[in-house]
Amino acid sequence: MSQARTIIAGNWKMNTDLESAAALAGAVAAGLEAGFGADVLLFPPAVFLAQVVDAVAGSGHPVGVGCQNLYFETSGAFTGETSAGMVLSTGASWALVGHSERRHVLGEDDALINRKVHAALARGLDVILCIGETIEQREAGETEATNARQLTAGIQGVAPADLGRLTIAYEPVWAIGTGLTASPAQAGAVHAYVRGVFAGLTTDADAERIRILYGGSVKPDNVRELMAVDDIDGALVGGASLGLETFLPIVDFGN
Ligand code: PEP
Repeated sequence: MSQARTIIAGNWKMNTDLESAAALAGAVAAGLEAGFGADVLLFPPAVFLAQVVDAVAGSGHPVGVGCQNLYFETSGAFTGETSAGMVLSTGASWALVGHSERRHVLGEDDALINRKVHAALARGLDVILCIGETIEQREAGETEATNARQLTAGIQGVAPADLGRLTIAYEPVWAIGTGLTASPAQAGAVHAYVRGVFAGLTTDADAERIRILYGGSVKPDNVRELMAVDDIDGALVGGASLGLETFLPIVDFGN
């Protein structure tokens, strides 16, 4: 279990518009109280990053903002893409990389994800690298191999000095947006395994420090039991991060 503070991150996916994104971010920031023990991160659509950064500025409880995706090149003829430098220039400081929808809907592979991890870290963004198995991989007994492969490939070549800016999110694909949640035992087993793989790739001390978030239909009524698991250091929340009435109770799970 990491000694660092718990992270609760909201992935808004392709939802909200300019007005509702700023309003939701402002309301989250206003609703957070000093006593809330978790670090809070918001991942709005890229076009609203600057407005969301503005909306949370000055909050009593710091709120990090990040992009849901980026491209590894710094600039040039890459129509439609967003670079790490562009993200940084909005005031955002985090990047989500390798989300299952990027892997399985948009076709990103491990090599591309690794280049994105490097690009984000090189520009000074903190990174959440998402990994997770599909239901077919789980049923074929490939859960550990899949997560080990995605983690190993995802962080290949990352300098030891950058590991402190890396967070992992274990998100079983079959639990994302489906209402199915991994049981605390299922999630805990994979988290412990992933931490062991990370230790093998880095050091035991790095593995103790790294935060491993769980994602997959986290809701106010299941967050407490998931966060009670030793190797779970926070949550990446999709659907339930779009409503104040569901997101704030998740952030406040410890009270
Ligand atoms: C996600 O988008 O990373 C996610 C876990 O979504 P949901 O909470 O809706 O399953």
